[in-house]
Amino acid sequence: MDWSILFPQNCIICNNSLCGNEKYICLHCENKLPKTDFHNKIDNPAEQLFMGKADIEKATSFCFYNSGSSFRDAIHEIKYGNNPRLAYKITTIYSEELIKVDWFKDIEAIVPVPLHFIKESSRGYNQSHWIAKAISDTTGIPILYNLIYKKSNTKSQTLNNLYRRYINSIDKYSVSKAHTPNKILIVDDVLTSGSTITSCVEAIRKINPSCIICVLTIAFAG
Ligand SMILES: [Zn+2]
Repeated sequence: MDWSILFPQNCIICNNSLCGNEKYICLHCENKLPKTDFHNKIDNPAEQLFMGKADIEKATSFCFYNSGSSFRDAIHEIKYGNNPRLAYKITTIYSEELIKVDWFKDIEAIVPVPLHFIKESSRGYNQSHWIAKAISDTTGIPILYNLIYKKSNTKSQTLNNLYRRYINSIDKYSVSKAHTPNKILIVDDVLTSGSTITSCVEAIRKINPSCIICVLTIAFAG
């Protein structure tokens, strides 16, 4: 049965109906996406962001955040518009591209960057979970939802600002298990300074110093 008759699909960017073998996005919008093509570039700008900060094997992002306003609107919708399914669809498009170049080779687990539980309960979702789910559904790689958790920072509220900022920057995340897989993919929505993911990498390295870590985001604002 052709389910598209019962559930007509529309382009996630322009909302026009999809035709033929278009999936989630129409050909016209796909051609206008500000793709980074980082996964085909050695020492790409996403990887350069982590140089000297975090020891990662590779990093990639789907599209530039700063150019192409329709993509920027889509990311805004994911973060603040109560539309995390959009993150799932965008990530599915990218995952299918990455599979073609064997980018996910040997990755044993997908780890979404956690939101603090207070933030997650006020928003109702963590968009990085939807990104992880899309990659998992496309590749079959399992997700470790709670491997990393965000520490509460309420204790440090009484400390002076400079010290608090220092503590927050080096010690935000912890790993919940005594062991981790040997090759992990950390995923998030937007890569900006890389400091959040750097903290996650440090937390994983405390448990498994030889862990190979890869990074994927759907937007790059670095
Ligand atoms: Zn479109």
